[in-house]
Amino acid sequence: MVKKKAPLRVLMTFSEVAPYAKTGGLADVAGALPSALSELGCDVRIVMPFYNRFIEKIADKKLAVENLSVPLGSQALAADIYHIRLDDGVVVYWIQRDEFFDRSHLYGTSKGDYFDNFQRFTYFARAVLAMCPEVEFKPNVVHAHDWQSGLVPAYLKHLYGTNEYWAETASVFTIHNIAYQGQFAPELFPLTGLPANFLSLDGMEFWGGINFLKAAIVCADVITTVSPRYSEEIQTKDYGQGLEGVLQGNRSRLFGILNGADYNEWNPETDPYIAANYSRHNLDGKRICKLDLLREVQLPERLVDRPLLGAISRLAEQKGFDLLAAVLDKLVDQDIGLVILGIGDDKYQRMLTDVADRYSKKVSVRLEFNERLAHKIEAGADMFLMPSRYEPCGLNQIYSLRYGTVPIVRATGGLYDTIKPFSPERGEGVGFRFSKYEADSFWRALMDAFALFKQPETWRQIIQNGMAMDFSWKTSAVEYLELYEKALAEKQRAAERGQKTGAAEEKGISRVRNPKSEGPNRS
Ligand code: ADP
Repeated sequence: MVKKKAPLRVLMTFSEVAPYAKTGGLADVAGALPSALSELGCDVRIVMPFYNRFIEKIADKKLAVENLSVPLGSQALAADIYHIRLDDGVVVYWIQRDEFFDRSHLYGTSKGDYFDNFQRFTYFARAVLAMCPEVEFKPNVVHAHDWQSGLVPAYLKHLYGTNEYWAETASVFTIHNIAYQGQFAPELFPLTGLPANFLSLDGMEFWGGINFLKAAIVCADVITTVSPRYSEEIQTKDYGQGLEGVLQGNRSRLFGILNGADYNEWNPETDPYIAANYSRHNLDGKRICKLDLLREVQLPERLVDRPLLGAISRLAEQKGFDLLAAVLDKLVDQDIGLVILGIGDDKYQRMLTDVADRYSKKVSVRLEFNERLAHKIEAGADMFLMPSRYEPCGLNQIYSLRYGTVPIVRATGGLYDTIKPFSPERGEGVGFRFSKYEADSFWRALMDAFALFKQPETWRQIIQNGMAMDFSWKTSAVEYLELYEKALAEKQRAAERGQKTGAAEEKGISRVRNPKSEGPNRS
């Protein structure tokens, strides 16, 4: 009889997970990838902080560990661990310590980051690894995400690696956005408990300070980012945010896997938030959704026959609001409508409020986080704007495709990988895109879109091409699984090398040199 292979045990660490707590696309990934991996036969557990205000209301969670002792510097600070098992088999663990996670926001307020984010996420990483033996889960792979989990691979390599429990565990680290690195003053380093020589050029030191993202990059067995294009871009000066040299030095371990879309959440055929459901084969409902959206955001109903542009976004420099500002006056001269949903930097909030006040018959701006309205915009708009300066993957353009809302994007990162430009000659392509980050290029893309909007047959073709695209998680989950195998092989090789060279290397840290990472500090 053939012995059944044991399922691969995967622990995923996230600082946000939909639907429990969300500020952006990371939470969407966390809400969908684990279940896609579970469907492929993995035993997947996820762990995140217990943000009281968001998680308290989950009724069926159970206490898994009480008073878990978690080291932070010279102290041991207790955490309680809660958990639930979801219908798809994924187990979610929450790490509760109110001092760190009972806050009104996840990472900071509009005035800035929380003063103790270093302590909060150092503690989180430590707690993740302290928790596993207590809940009797011994992962084959720990897959950590973004800087908030950046110390997890570092602990595995330099603190827990010699521990028998963790000796065979491989680490995978995913960069969802390289602009957020978790940089802190070097004086805090002793709190990590990592070996002193890890605060060096070969370790987590970055321009004199601490950098969590760098710690993960130099320590993980495999590094991934969320689109193939972005994995190339971040190795260049224009996109690497100072870490391009480190990434070049580790490029043999760096891979790009496109995020998927959760079509259980984002599907116009079943979406409960929208006024009428519709499909690629019957688009009638889309017009009803457009009228509903116009009413909801208080724009004139006459716009139902004009191009209605939508945007849903964090209001951050990354998202291209400067370009939008640069074309806005010309744009509102056109007979169009514009709906923007977002929260973020004061600068952009003011700019958008001002535009909405001046052009209230054409522009509606909602400065809030509103899941329901996000779905209504995806369904009701004709075009979706993402003129991003950079975009690791981007999810809204993928959702837009499924809703028949034609994306107009800058050709960068995941936007480049997902939005093939429409070619009238061949009838192929799903959107409009421009390359240079400049207002004129953006404007030309808008003009091209408006011109084709006037040709209903062609416009329908673009819509239907987009709606036929399939970015479901399964494809990406299979790619992750392959990388997990690679990470395990890498880990195995490293262990063999370690055995050969003996204990001397055990004490050292990664020898990858990074001459390009030096320079002035960056906030
Ligand atoms: P990022 O992660 O850089 O913010 P993504 O496009 O990858 O961008 O993901 C953004 C996610 O957050 C999408 O699911 C989008 O609908 C959602 N989102 C962003 N801003 C808002 C908002 N103001 N209200 C509701 N959902 C929002």
